[in-house]
Amino acid sequence: MAVSGLGPYDPQNIFAKILRGEIPCNKVFEDSFALAFHDIAPKAPVHVLVIPKGPYVSYADFSATASDAEIAGFTRAVGHVATLLGLDGAGYRLLSNMGAAAGQEVPHFHVHLFGGAALGPMLH
Ligand code: IMP
Repeated sequence: MAVSGLGPYDPQNIFAKILRGEIPCNKVFEDSFALAFHDIAPKAPVHVLVIPKGPYVSYADFSATASDAEIAGFTRAVGHVATLLGLDGAGYRLLSNMGAAAGQEVPHFHVHLFGGAALGPMLH
């Protein structure tokens, strides 16, 4: 699916390089479906990115073309990461930017997980 501001999957994007181990990350969790690591420029006391291992540009791409096992595995990984980080009690925010209107910078689908503070009505 074409999303404004995004082309086909670029295997040189920075998250693809992190997945291949070509550049480091501050890892929180990894399984066969997902990798979670701390955002390099955190916008909350806890700001973690969870990415699927497959080559998906956007949520539209992921939701339309990933297998049911990948979608389930990734979704469970997001919840597991929040639990690992101790965020279930206080709560947290999930956010995913898609395409030009949302200002998506990295063209590999990812979910931001924010927590560790009262987040206010909106965080972007
Ligand atoms: P987007 O705007 O939703 O695409 O968010 C991309 C996020 O990736 C931003 O919050 C960046 O700070 C983060 N980011 C970019 N490069 C790296 C990196 O090398 N490690 C960790 N986070 C990164």
